[in-house]
Amino acid sequence: MKSPAPSGTTTRTLVELIAHKRDGLAFAPGEILRLIRAFSAGELADYQMTALLMAIYFRGLTDVETVELTEAMLHSGRVLALPAVKKLKVDKHSTGGVGDKVSICLAPLVAACGVPVPMVSGRGLGHTGGTLDKLEAIPGFRTDLSTETFERLVGELGTCMIGQTADVAPADKRIYALRDVTATVECIPLIVASILSKKLAEGIDGLVLDVKFGKGAFMKDEARARALAEALVRVGTGAGKRVTAILTRMDMPLGRAVGNANETREALMLLHGEAPSDLYECTMVLADEMLILGGAAKDAKEARGKLEAAIKSGSAIEVMEKMVAAQGGDAKVVRNPSLLAMAPREIAVQAPADAVGGYVHELDALTVGLTGVAMGAGRTRADQAVDFGVGIELLAKPGDKVEQGKPLAHMYLREGQDEAALSARLLSAYRFDKSVPSPAPPLVCDYRRS
Ligand code: URA
Repeated sequence: MKSPAPSGTTTRTLVELIAHKRDGLAFAPGEILRLIRAFSAGELADYQMTALLMAIYFRGLTDVETVELTEAMLHSGRVLALPAVKKLKVDKHSTGGVGDKVSICLAPLVAACGVPVPMVSGRGLGHTGGTLDKLEAIPGFRTDLSTETFERLVGELGTCMIGQTADVAPADKRIYALRDVTATVECIPLIVASILSKKLAEGIDGLVLDVKFGKGAFMKDEARARALAEALVRVGTGAGKRVTAILTRMDMPLGRAVGNANETREALMLLHGEAPSDLYECTMVLADEMLILGGAAKDAKEARGKLEAAIKSGSAIEVMEKMVAAQGGDAKVVRNPSLLAMAPREIAVQAPADAVGGYVHELDALTVGLTGVAMGAGRTRADQAVDFGVGIELLAKPGDKVEQGKPLAHMYLREGQDEAALSARLLSAYRFDKSVPSPAPPLVCDYRRS
């Protein structure tokens, strides 16, 4: 990327600006803002924007340009300020994976330690689930609250979890739709601006990012995920926020529960002190960083002590209970997560006879996620409804011995669903071998901080 164009060139026409990026030149300050404003106003057509996106795909953006793109998309819509919440506000974003229910336990846990968490989440699409769908498995829970209620609850309870409204970063929404159909999604500066523009609209001071890589992640490749994590931290910092990115592995599902009600149950159990070790580790490392960014702990050791105390004392459960009640949900499920309704047909998935005596070597997160979608737990189009009650409980994960008569998983299905095909699909996610598997590589691979 060549150095920024000299000042005094901002009278370039929109077509000249597209040509400028096509030729590998950096924009002068204000030019990206002009392009996004023109796009929002209908003065830059979709076909011109797609030409610009393809030019950016090949020529890239500098960090300074990416900050300007982020801020231009952010200010294309409503930006919350939350002035009534005086403390430093911190949120978390995950690039998405299978079984990733971390937000549900993380927000009340961090809030219980004194850091406000204004959380705006999305719905599931494709093989990855979405926090909103999981929360809505709690009977009555509403995620469509007004901005005023959101601000009040973050102030009073320390957290509130809502869905993105149409007025958050509308330029990103339109640009993402164009990227999706023009093969320009896989471009790090565009991904960074897209993620950050939506998160910064929450009025946060700090952001912790869980950048996942592996079979079930948006970024399959570790090197690309690392580059994304680094760019997110540089650009987020450039936009004036404190940012930490954590690189985590997503080759197998996180935790044992997949499916909406089932994942919410597992997340609530973490607040009761019971969680699979990988889910616990992922939640705690992200929460550690949130407490540090929010000024509630000077380092991870102090943060961890506070977080563990919030689980032990029940204060995290109390925050969750109040938040669920305030958002219209049945708060009884917080104390008793087994009240969450699962689909009625429970079937056990058995290992093939020739695997007995051996070990589980792999459990492909993508295949598990797609099985969940086929069961109705997820969606392939944004306008589809999901079934909250269908789900999978993964009893065996990599490293576990395969024993006669001991199921690998339970599936919760509706009457009439094709049990044979769905269980065969889930079984295809497993790889067995007679050899003792080597220990799983660490879940948390790296940290990048502002
Ligand atoms: N997630 C987003 O929000 N935007 C992207 O561009 C990619 C993933």
